[in-house]
Parts: sequence; structure tokens; C-alpha cells
Amino acid sequence: MKGINKSKRLFRKAQGLIPGGVNSPVRAFKAVGGQPLFISHAKGSKIYDVDGNAYIDYVLSWGPMILGHAHPSVVKALKAAIEKGTSYGAPTELEVKLAEMVLKAYPSMDKVRMVNSGTEATMSAIRVARGFTKRDRIIKFEGCYHGHADGLLVKAGSGATTFGVPDSPGVPRSYARNTITLPFNDLKAVKAVVEKDWKNIACIILEPVVGNIGCVLPKRGFLEGLRKITKKYGIVLIFDEVMTGFRVSYGGAQAYYGVEPDMTCLGKVIGGGLPVGAYGGKAEIMSMVSPEGPVYQAGTLSGNPLAMTAGITTLKILSRKGTYERLEQKGLALEEGLKDAAKRAGVKTRFYRAGTMFCTYFTDREVYDYQTAKQADTERFARFFAGMLKRGVNIAPSQFEAGFISLAHTDKDIEKTVRAAYDVMKSL
Ligand SMILES: *Cc1c(COP(=O)(O)O)cnc(C)c1O
Repeated sequence: MKGINKSKRLFRKAQGLIPGGVNSPVRAFKAVGGQPLFISHAKGSKIYDVDGNAYIDYVLSWGPMILGHAHPSVVKALKAAIEKGTSYGAPTELEVKLAEMVLKAYPSMDKVRMVNSGTEATMSAIRVARGFTKRDRIIKFEGCYHGHADGLLVKAGSGATTFGVPDSPGVPRSYARNTITLPFNDLKAVKAVVEKDWKNIACIILEPVVGNIGCVLPKRGFLEGLRKITKKYGIVLIFDEVMTGFRVSYGGAQAYYGVEPDMTCLGKVIGGGLPVGAYGGKAEIMSMVSPEGPVYQAGTLSGNPLAMTAGITTLKILSRKGTYERLEQKGLALEEGLKDAAKRAGVKTRFYRAGTMFCTYFTDREVYDYQTAKQADTERFARFFAGMLKRGVNIAPSQFEAGFISLAHTDKDIEKTVRAAYDVMKSL
């Protein structure tokens, strides 16, 4: 380590100019203490800070960089695209191409609309689901993050049927009232609410694998159960695959678990590192969207040619034969290595993984929802995080974020990571 003086200087300056010094809260390292690194560049599996330190990166811009950073094919395609202009506000062949690729990979979708972020995707999908069903309430799950739209920043009240209260000042109570929040993996709670209130419920939205409280896997039968009950009561089932899409498999969590939703939200990987989101679904639902239907949704930069180019190039590489087998091998190698390191170091952890999305929880108890995730020892995680960073491994600066592996991560990277993890765990 060469120290982080330049990062420190920049952070002090940034705090005077940008709220908290960052443009997205979790970047500020608040959950682990310490101070964020300012990045100068990234390549393959590594990122480099402004002080010249290199780190093996398991954050990967919070998911998008599944090919690794600055992949040569993506860089080349973007360079060629940029020469042709950066935005037209008119349709392009690129949008048709990416839509075609997405629909082919997700047979549950007949049509798809491009937007600029995951937040826009979920916000718009819910609007469409409400327009389609002519119902106002939505069900979400505790710990599932669907971006920062008002009605989605809501936690549960105490009882299962309690109306939501906002998580954030600035979200009107009247918005939150229409959001019912239930524990993930609790099909009974869903049934109880739906059987009583189905006439008012437009949609159930969830992360099929919850990546925003670490990595929480759906219990056997949970997704299938949601599919069954939503079908029975005419409720739109929305899979928010902004993180899991093209990540846990090419066809996302819906292919991985074999459950088809009515609508799907995408983002992160489909933008190949540029700002993109998308939402789509069955034809009769998507025909509600303006200008085909009455539900309004628009975007000045939606379908941006650079973003489409990065997305198309990324998906092309991902769709090559054997790609997800290679990713799975890397995921498995890291899983086995980290579990073994914890065992040898005598540290109680729980490790969960879906493909190349994973989390090590510092707890010896099973994690299957928000409450059980919250039992993890965050103070211990903070020390683990600091130790890993010191040894040149960048993991997310919070116990409640997923880690990601890219195609660029080598066996050597993984070995080095496991060695570092053992050293740090031994010292905990
Ligand atoms: C990241 C994420 C979002 C929000 O996407 P942004 O592009 O940050 O707006 C929504 N849902 C899930 C599941 C996510 O992981």
C-alpha cells in the first residue's frame, strides 16, 4: 500500500461540494467506517485508486462489469460509436438489436422498453402494472431494494397487514400507504394478505435473489408459490432482475429457477457499464405503455446509442458457448476457498451464492430474509473489509451488499483473495 493521501484530500474537498462527498450513499464507506477510495482507472479484474494502489475488484461497479473493466471489445465498440454522435432523440437500429437480444434471452417478455437506470425500470413497471390492473397497492419484500422511487422506499410496519411507513423523509405517507411490505421467503404472509386484499393489489415485486441485503436465496417453492397465487388473483408478478439479469445466468434468475414472471426489470449488466435500465413483459401488459397505450413513460436519453452499444457488445460476449460454465467455475472456486478459509481460521460464517453473485455473512445462523441477515456481525465485517482492502482486495463496504465475480477474474486472483481472507479472518 502506498497510502491513500490523495483519496483523503479529494474526499475532504468532495464533502464540501457534494452531499456526503459522493453521488450514491453506499460509496461513502459509512457502514464500515474509514474513508472511500477515489478511483483513477480500472482494467480487467483490477481497479486502481488515485494514489496508485491496485485492488482485485469484487464490487464491479455494483454488478454491471461482468466482463471485467474496460473489456477490449466494449472499448473498441464504444470508440467507434462515439464518432457517430452521442445522442439523437430518434430511434436507432441499435435499440432494435438490443431489444431483440433481451427478448430472446427472456422468453417471459414479449416487449421491452429501455430506460436509463434500474430505478426508472422498477418505477415504470409498477406504473404499468397499476394501469393494467386498475389497482393501487403493491406488495414488496423487506430488504428488497428496487431503486429509490418514492413508493418503494418503504419498510414493513409491525404486523403483516400494516400499511407501510416511509423509510426516508420526503416520501409522503400517502405513497407509502399503498406499499405492503412482507418478509422474504414467507409465502404464508403473502397468502394471508392477498386472500384478503387481492382486489386492491396490482403487483408483487421482488428480487428473486435478494442482492441488496447480501445474497439471500429463495427457498424452494417460494417463487413458484408467488407465481401460483398471483396468477389466481390476477396480480402482476414482477421480477426485479436489475442485479440478477444476465448475472446468475444469461436468462437471469427466472431461467435459473425456472419461474416465469409477468414483467421483468433489468439494468446493470445490460448496460455494460453505461447507464441503462429496461422493463418488459407480456404483450397485453406492455401494450399499455405510451404511445401504444395510455400509461405514460418517456426519456430524453433512453435507448442512448453508446449505452446500447455497450449493452449489445456485452451480451454478445456473454452469449458465447461456455461463458456461464466458466463463471460458475470461478464462483465455485471462490466459494470453496472462502468457506475453507473461514473454517481454518475458526470464524463462523454463512456463505451464499447464485452463480457469480455471493455474500459471506459473519454469523453462524441461516440467513433467509432481512431479519436473519441483520443478525450478522457488522463490526466484525468492518474489520474484515479493512483487512481485505489493505491486502489489495476490494469488496463492497457493507455486510449487506452482494459481491460479484467477472470473466476477467483469474485463478490467481481467486487464490490471492482466499489467502487474504484467511489471514484477515485469523486476526479477527
Ligand atoms: C441496483 C438495483 C436497482 C436500482 O438500479 P439503479 O440503476 O441504481 O437505479 C433496482 N433493483 C435492483 C434489484 C438493484 O440491484
